[in-house]
Amino acid sequence: MRLNAQAAARSGLRQLGIADHGPAMRWGLGVESLETFETIRRDIRDINEVSGTYRGLSVLLGCEANIIDFEGNLDIPPWLQNDLDVVLAGFHVQIRPRSLTQGMRYLVDRALSGMSSYVAKRERIRNTDVVTAALINNKIDILTHPGLRINIDTAELAKVSVQTGTLLEINCHHDDAMLAFVKVAARCGARFVISSDAHNPDQIGQYERGLEVARKAGLCGEQIMNVIAKGEDPEPKLARFRPSTHLTGSAKKRSDMSKDLHEYK
Ligand SMILES: [Zn+2]
Repeated sequence: MRLNAQAAARSGLRQLGIADHGPAMRWGLGVESLETFETIRRDIRDINEVSGTYRGLSVLLGCEANIIDFEGNLDIPPWLQNDLDVVLAGFHVQIRPRSLTQGMRYLVDRALSGMSSYVAKRERIRNTDVVTAALINNKIDILTHPGLRINIDTAELAKVSVQTGTLLEINCHHDDAMLAFVKVAARCGARFVISSDAHNPDQIGQYERGLEVARKAGLCGEQIMNVIAKGEDPEPKLARFRPSTHLTGSAKKRSDMSKDLHEYK
């Protein structure tokens, strides 16, 4: 945690979000159990309490939850969604699904969709329904890498994200089809965050690819919630993600924050 905080402070970030994958992620990529969040919470509290050491940085406790069934349920319960500072959620293929039958149906359709336009259409409708149900039925602050490697109706998803107040991530790792996605979503009124999706301290603060996508899509500062335009007051945008469970006196001091980007992941 200290290495992450040091890297964030060095990059001039004002907030750093720590968002481990939820427990349904396979191959040891997710947290072992929900108790792990308590360990992370303690680490974060230690960092925030000596915030001066990290140039006023405040660290947020989050999770990148997994959508685990066709009904749009997540692998973290509602009480934890309310308890975290920021909830991210993603549609990942490499998870343990809640129902084996649904998991098999998903994988079979996915395999067949390249051969059958009928299956592809059915898969697209279902993917869209699943993700929009997740937004409606959960407290999701940020949807991660929307549409990445899944067939989805971007316009429909973006419209629902506006209704639920969910931000869509511009992911600096997975930018394959990001530009086309952002253009469509922005036309529907969606709002965004740019995330480095850092998986080690060296990657924290690396936003260039995401910024490039935002520039090419013609986004302005008001559409990206973790970018502050020159001269803009940062507080209204940041209020949504202010740490609630471990806010300390030192963490409140934001006046020495120097740069214009924040990190949520
Ligand atoms: Zn992800």
